Amino acid sequence: MFFYNTLFRKKEKFEPFNPSKVGLYSCGPTVYDYAHIGHARTYVFVDVLKRVLEYSGYKVDHVMNITDVGHLTSEADTGDDKVEKKAKIEGKTAWDIAKYYTKDFFDMTGKLNILKPQVICKATDYIPQMIKIIKQLEEKGLTYVISDGVYFDTSKLKNYGKLARLKIEDLKEGARVGKNKEKRNPTDFALWKFTQSGTKRQMEWQSPWGVGFPGWHIECSAMSMEHLGETIDIHTGGIDHIPIHHTNEIAQSEGATGKLFVKYWLHAGHLLVEGKKMSKSLGNYYRLKDVVDKGYDPLSLRYLFLTAHYRTEMNFTWKALEGAQKAFSKLKVQLATGNLQLTNKKEKRVDSKLDSQVEEYSKRFRNYLNDDLDMPRAIALVWEVVKSDIPDSDKYKLIIDWDRVFGFGLAGQEIRNKELVISQKVKGLVKEREKLREEKKWEEADKIRKEIEEKGYLVEDKQEKSIIKKKPRYDL
Ligand code: AMP
Ligand code: ZN
Repeated sequence: MFFYNTLFRKKEKFEPFNPSKVGLYSCGPTVYDYAHIGHARTYVFVDVLKRVLEYSGYKVDHVMNITDVGHLTSEADTGDDKVEKKAKIEGKTAWDIAKYYTKDFFDMTGKLNILKPQVICKATDYIPQMIKIIKQLEEKGLTYVISDGVYFDTSKLKNYGKLARLKIEDLKEGARVGKNKEKRNPTDFALWKFTQSGTKRQMEWQSPWGVGFPGWHIECSAMSMEHLGETIDIHTGGIDHIPIHHTNEIAQSEGATGKLFVKYWLHAGHLLVEGKKMSKSLGNYYRLKDVVDKGYDPLSLRYLFLTAHYRTEMNFTWKALEGAQKAFSKLKVQLATGNLQLTNKKEKRVDSKLDSQVEEYSKRFRNYLNDDLDMPRAIALVWEVVKSDIPDSDKYKLIIDWDRVFGFGLAGQEIRNKELVISQKVKGLVKEREKLREEKKWEEADKIRKEIEEKGYLVEDKQEKSIIKKKPRYDL
């Protein structure tokens, strides 16, 4: 299995520290506003990654944080705390804001069949662990205190910026994160911010350096170490996290422990709208609610996401979603109406060529997953299988098995066998029609076809044999 590791900018063979168990940490949402479908794309990617690992036999320990404190409106460690700012606007407590938007986030991920991580942890519950790491960094001489907080001195760490390949010497003050005159280096970042004198925050804690709140990055180091240990296998996030958030997570964690923090860094490309990143600040975003209100199935959006590789940028259009909905509905119809299940009980496996064809499809599917989660090719393979000559029962088995990775919930679409029982009357009509066709009495045969269709079945003529199927319940 190969994953593209951002750390080395290449695909690398996946070898977890523990051969049977994978530690996976995902940066979670900042819960100050509604989640949009740009977020959804990143978390569908994480979900597919986790499902692929499980499909391949690994046990996955998945941890995701919820940022309910410390994410400021400016990446320069200045500005308001996003959650506290929203609390003021909405006249609620910061805690209520976080709770409300956390629920919104999980409502969205639930509708997209995104499996919940085993551990979901809120930053505000891990303040002591964060303080402990800051103390370790202080003991190692990697921090300094200025008027607004405790900062990490990035000049003291060899390899700072290795993930983003930052050329520190080229960075001018303010070029990356804005100005703060007291900071020693432009890349230094806040570990702990002080509550400004004369102000009162809703979320604030005592610390050895003064009352305040944690910087945004330290929470992920603390929660990752607490649940998965000092070194973990995989860490995920959107591509925007590479230059600052993940770069600083590495600095703090490796600075404190002296050990490698993460073996494989995986990043998802952005969802764009008319070429620009979908974001709150640009106002060019859609929520899942907008998708549903326009009559789309949330899982059509999931299907759409899987048709592009997770590392590429994807431009969202309603037309593309329309296309995905059509394709997804078609797939559901295949399964829901039993078209793929209808097995001729007498059908015997005499053709070993067919078995090897099924085997070949399975192999190709695994190869696509193992090639840095190539879901577009895996999806294309589904359609190749649907159109192939292998028995319908094999098509069904393959697709339902692969759905453990796709996460479309297709198994729930199947209809019970009893619904497939074809009445003696219809069977008789089929026989009669076959005879008429043999006698080349096409017009009469057509009349019987209509009669069969009126009874809710479809007739497909394959060479000399007629195949009967349940009529789709959906209009395509
Ligand atoms: P945030 O709540 O802003 O911290 O974002 C949570 C996650 O969603 C991060 O991993 C972001 O990289 C990701 N994200 C935000 N906007 C987009 C987008 N337009 N496309 C894909 N991922 C996004
Ligand atoms: Zn993080």
